[in-house]
Amino acid sequence: MIFMEKQTHQKMRTAAHSNRQPVLELRHVTCAYEAGRPAISDISLTAQEGDIVCLLGPSGCGKTTTLRAIAGFEAITAGEVYLQGRLVSSPSLSVPTEQRRIGMVFQEYALFPHLRVVDNVAFGLRHLPADQRADQVNTMLAMVGLTGFERRYPHELSGGQQQRVALARALAQKPVMLLLDEPFSNLDPDMTGKMREDLLQLLRHTNTTALLVTHDHDEAFAMADRIAVLNHGQLEQLDVPEAIYHTPATPFVADFVGQADFIPGVVEQGTVLTELGIFPHEKEYSLGAKVVVMIRPDDVHVAPSDQAKATILARQFRGSENLYTIALPSGRIVHSSASSTSIHPVGTPVELRVIATHTVLFPQDDDLAQP
Ligand code: ADP
Ligand code: MG
Repeated sequence: MIFMEKQTHQKMRTAAHSNRQPVLELRHVTCAYEAGRPAISDISLTAQEGDIVCLLGPSGCGKTTTLRAIAGFEAITAGEVYLQGRLVSSPSLSVPTEQRRIGMVFQEYALFPHLRVVDNVAFGLRHLPADQRADQVNTMLAMVGLTGFERRYPHELSGGQQQRVALARALAQKPVMLLLDEPFSNLDPDMTGKMREDLLQLLRHTNTTALLVTHDHDEAFAMADRIAVLNHGQLEQLDVPEAIYHTPATPFVADFVGQADFIPGVVEQGTVLTELGIFPHEKEYSLGAKVVVMIRPDDVHVAPSDQAKATILARQFRGSENLYTIALPSGRIVHSSASSTSIHPVGTPVELRVIATHTVLFPQDDDLAQP
């Protein structure tokens, strides 16, 4: 079993746009529904103009609460929220929602059932003269691909079309930013891929700053410039998608955003010794420290060999790949993904090669170290 260095992966999305105006800034925001039990704690994040930031985390971790705090629906108990540099929330101040000029698209599209599509989209535009209002509505409907649906009622539309109306209505008011709370969760799974692509294109085309909530890491990977991973109301990591996947800051992030195995090891001079071989180590752990190395299935490559001590326990066919479950001599389990045409039967002894960009280490903790 050997370790090889993969070509250092380049960050595709750099943080080079730091001179843009921050549209949203959360500074150490805490929000509690019940005293002493914060739903979110000490959340800090920034979205620059045109950024798509995803809030990613499991159910109940505080994603909706964060959006509601930004929108001004929930008072915050500590910290500050700024929109375009203006303080809108602090423990002693809350600018009303309608003055924040935020566009919102939530799980349920909340269209007015008794209003036609045109009137739903025009709803927030009553301050405009009729001709400008009509122009604006037509532009928005064209943008979301709903020209021709003007006179329908919400119940005459599919879920995806209703969601587009909700988007058109939110964007029609030229909001300073858009908050989207799991906007695809009510759609049929076969629609979400197309809707994601369309939404991404629309946000890019209109240079809209957006905070998108999702519990689906694939969605976050596909959409986000940066991902904020929340767990139990705490921000565990805020980074570009590639870094969230390849260099997770915590075991929770590692596990939440993809398959991860944790192999125990001992730190030596500049390396970590494990059952899977020797890994270079970059972090400062003291000599002899007990750690776990995070391994992704795409870093593990199998090659059948009669002398090998590891064996294939199971193969899961996933269409584009095979996911192998492999038992190491110790009985510990690792996973390996291989192309869909590379088929080895269960029981095959295999040599393992681990080819990773970085060695990701965490302190050893019994929960992680056990197979
Ligand atoms: P998510 O959107 O990530 O699923 P939420 O922000 O809705 O999570 O909820 C975060 C936490 O706050 C959960 O523990 C939830 O039970 C609690 N919570 C949410 N809304 C309320 C409320 N209106 N009153 C009391 N507790 C709430
Ligand atoms: Mg929610």
